[in-house]
Amino acid sequence: MANVRLKLSDPGAGRFTGSNDKLCSYDELPVWKKIYMCPHVVSGYLTDLSTLQCLKSTYKLTNETGNVLTHVVPAVAFLILGLYDHHVTIPGRHGDDMDYVISAIYFTSCQMLLLSSTTYHIFTPHRCRSVFTLGLGLDLFGIVVTILAVLSTFVAYCFKCSVFWQMLYQCVCVAMLVPYAAMFLHPKYRFHWVRPENRLVGIGPPLALVCSVFIAQSYLYHGGWASDTAWIYPFRCLRNGGIYIAAFVLFHIKNIPQVWFPGRFDYVGHGHQWWHMAVVLGLLDWRDALFVFQSIQQQSLSC
Ligand SMILES: [Zn+2]
Repeated sequence: MANVRLKLSDPGAGRFTGSNDKLCSYDELPVWKKIYMCPHVVSGYLTDLSTLQCLKSTYKLTNETGNVLTHVVPAVAFLILGLYDHHVTIPGRHGDDMDYVISAIYFTSCQMLLLSSTTYHIFTPHRCRSVFTLGLGLDLFGIVVTILAVLSTFVAYCFKCSVFWQMLYQCVCVAMLVPYAAMFLHPKYRFHWVRPENRLVGIGPPLALVCSVFIAQSYLYHGGWASDTAWIYPFRCLRNGGIYIAAFVLFHIKNIPQVWFPGRFDYVGHGHQWWHMAVVLGLLDWRDALFVFQSIQQQSLSC
């Protein structure tokens, strides 16, 4: 009876769970886990696994396989892309030391986002709710780190010639990590905060506020929208934000395509995997924006 455990607390007490080989349906998941899973992805779940079983389950085709691959493969690609930028792209653009530092911050945060998401999806079938919510918290914290890291890189370019504003905004970016780390990673808070319906409520408004203040400050500092330096960040926020909002609505709220074709996309092609690819597209758009900003700096700004 290895890997088999009777869960008396489950509504369907009497069933055996925990087989590393057995895939189950959404209806067979523990009640607490159903809150976090998409009910329209009806099959292909593993559940009630130990830590070692979760790691071994990465070799098995489940409805999490695509979620892992759509972020672990880009993580490898971004590692190669980062090395390419540092050895080819930035030297070719005659970048200075700051360009290398900014690029390193950007690629490090990308790895943080992609690998923390991968970790969450590997440990999604874990039997312990605290391990599951820690993984989910890590996933969400990775998103926050990336948003703040991108803001930090734009601050570095935008206020290159102002030590005061540079230090102020960089300190704000670092300081904002603390409450988010508590919200998503501390065991006392993550049970209450990291629920699907609270994700945007928790992440969005404080970050939107800081980004808005930065945009207004940049507008005043650089003399209005006529300045490319003032315009580039809000423009990319709109474009990149549009990608994320559209993907979130389509693939998370509307649950396309699994709502339209129940059961057909349970393993490959369900909405969360499309959401992952939209995130990767957004990351590539930020990389492009940083190069545009770098070019503007070289042409127009000298302190
Ligand atoms: Zn995910």
